[in-house]
Amino acid sequence: MNIMLLGAPGSGKGTLAEKLIKNQGFKQMSTGDLMRKEIKEETPLGIECARYMNEGKLVPDEVTMGIVKNFLQENHNQLIFDGIPRTLNQAKILEENLVELNAKIDKVIYIDVPTQILLDRISGRLICPKCKVSYHIISRKPKAEGICDNDGSELVRRPDDAPEKVKVRLEAYASETAPLVDYYKNKPGFVHIVDNANTTAEEVYAEVLGAL
Ligand code: ADP
Repeated sequence: MNIMLLGAPGSGKGTLAEKLIKNQGFKQMSTGDLMRKEIKEETPLGIECARYMNEGKLVPDEVTMGIVKNFLQENHNQLIFDGIPRTLNQAKILEENLVELNAKIDKVIYIDVPTQILLDRISGRLICPKCKVSYHIISRKPKAEGICDNDGSELVRRPDDAPEKVKVRLEAYASETAPLVDYYKNKPGFVHIVDNANTTAEEVYAEVLGAL
């Protein structure tokens, strides 16, 4: 089974993916993580991605879908699509790629979170540059301040989590990605999760497991 996670930046896609990987044997395909890896390795693709990512803008579809296609050649089952698709065009290309590989998306999990909560979460977010797990300065503190529980790495703030970049990212989400909710909502396998201020990550996970 393949799952797609749909939701704004800060909606908890990464946190949910982490639990599904650990407990249910899924593998994650996060285009953001794949792009950050290219940037870190200073590949030509990474240099291209950085031009957009550092501004909070979407990386062009041709670049993004090239990365996705490469990844899919090796893996196309038990995947969690996290951060992909982000445009209708990406959704259609992804579907075509999967059909060619005899695979499909079985569930689309839409995590619906109010904007103020997204802003609170992103402004307090810290990530481990090594294992990619994310923390929060108030709601998900590491055991030792600023240090990853898993591997002892020093936690960092993502450059695009700066407030002015977040604004651009949320605008890109509203104009480019939010229309995907309408595209998927009447198709089989659509799951709508409402996450308000009182919902914990565990509750979201439990609801998703129920839907799976
Ligand atoms: P978030 O969901 O918190 O924004 P991601 O790691 O998914 O975090 O994405 C960070 C950035 O990476 C985006 O703002 C964008 O620049 C780029 N990116 C990731 N996935 C895509 C995609 N599918 N299409 C275009 N750009 C992408």
